[in-house]
Amino acid sequence: TEPKMPGFVPLYQSWESFYTRNLYRRVRDCWNRPICSVVGAETEVLERKSNDYGWNFELTDRRLKVMNFGSYNYLGFAEKEGPCVDAVEENIKLCGLSSCGSRQELGYQEIHKELDDLVAEFLGVEAAITVPMGFATNSMNMPCLVGKGSLILSDELNHASLVLGSRLSGAMIKTFKHNDMQDLEAKLRDAVVVGQPRTHRPWKKILIVVEGVYSMEGSIINLPDVIRLKKKYKAYLYLDEAHSMGAIGPNGRGVVEYFGLIPKDVDIMMGTFTKSFCSSGGYIGGNKRLINYLRVQSHAAMYSPSMPPPVVQQIISTMSIIMGLDGTNEGKKRIQQLKWNLRYLRRRLHEMGFIIYGNKDSPIVPLLVYIPSKTVALSRECLARGMGIVVVGFPATPISESRARFCLSAAHTKEMLDKALNILDEVGDLLRLKYSKMTPPKF
Ligand code: PMP
Repeated sequence: TEPKMPGFVPLYQSWESFYTRNLYRRVRDCWNRPICSVVGAETEVLERKSNDYGWNFELTDRRLKVMNFGSYNYLGFAEKEGPCVDAVEENIKLCGLSSCGSRQELGYQEIHKELDDLVAEFLGVEAAITVPMGFATNSMNMPCLVGKGSLILSDELNHASLVLGSRLSGAMIKTFKHNDMQDLEAKLRDAVVVGQPRTHRPWKKILIVVEGVYSMEGSIINLPDVIRLKKKYKAYLYLDEAHSMGAIGPNGRGVVEYFGLIPKDVDIMMGTFTKSFCSSGGYIGGNKRLINYLRVQSHAAMYSPSMPPPVVQQIISTMSIIMGLDGTNEGKKRIQQLKWNLRYLRRRLHEMGFIIYGNKDSPIVPLLVYIPSKTVALSRECLARGMGIVVVGFPATPISESRARFCLSAAHTKEMLDKALNILDEVGDLLRLKYSKMTPPKF
């Protein structure tokens, strides 16, 4: 990959294998920190034995209290004292911990139906189906939607679950450049004869697959143009809103609301409950025909147990708050707080001289570190100062674009953000990460 910063030494192919085989073993501590408390805005991690950077994973029993900028707790519902905890506790007493069966085999409780209906109402679609795992929602449902003889046009940065789902479907897969509408249109033009009905072209179906917010880039999909193109070329649209549902849009209804579009224009609306709802599982929303079809075709719905009732209760409680069904404006306040927090952090980091990627409204703020070894140093230096962050590098990013990813939360207070910014200011100087204030070296 061409390095973006001027004056950087290019990295070579052999680096790739060296990095994955040798270096990762030594830097594993940055990605395997056992948490021993709730993953709220502040959390506790178990300290490792000094110099334990290998495979052995030796831990001490010392707990380290850190500010948490790595969890997808966008609206702060992961907190121990959250408004949903009582309802979840009650639900355990009422329904127990497990559904002990799939939807077809007595695993479909009243609460699951309540959730399906609430999700449909939240999305503004006719119907929805919920599945116990977000990853499986993509990988197991996509093969029901398209197959051999169909074409998938997939954004090059789509999540692994979308990639797996596409591959399992057996359809022909073509990728287009990330969020590049010209490239998408070129691929669509290649695939169809404009003006012809769906039946007069070589593909049974064409499915465009995109995400709402891209978690590595912090970018927001250009949904108005994607919808325009899918209509023009008579394709279907699959939208994964894992990182946007709850976190984006004035009422937290995702990118569709953010751009003021109509939910009906997205054929398949997918999302997960692990982010804004601080629970687990995923959903697909769409018209009744689609959802009824998935109920009997999807492996995720047919062959895996339905969600544990307390997990469902957490989603129902958080979603009701976001929708204002609890009679308060708590949900709106959280959405606004998240927005304020992320804009504040983004602006201050930019002023300090860091290179920040992504859209100003994305709940994830990627800070470019570029050099892989520096991500490790950044992670360790931040942890030593009481700040837990997530760093990502190859193969999740191009090798020369390693980065830190700050996941913002409505539960972060201004003091926390200021403390975090002071830490990053200090560590940024120490590791020379304020690239926009540096003069490129002359060769
Ligand atoms: N889609 C996207 C875009 C994701 O980022 C993720 C995971 N972060 C998933 C699907 C899978 O969701 P889950 O982690 O809830 O299984």
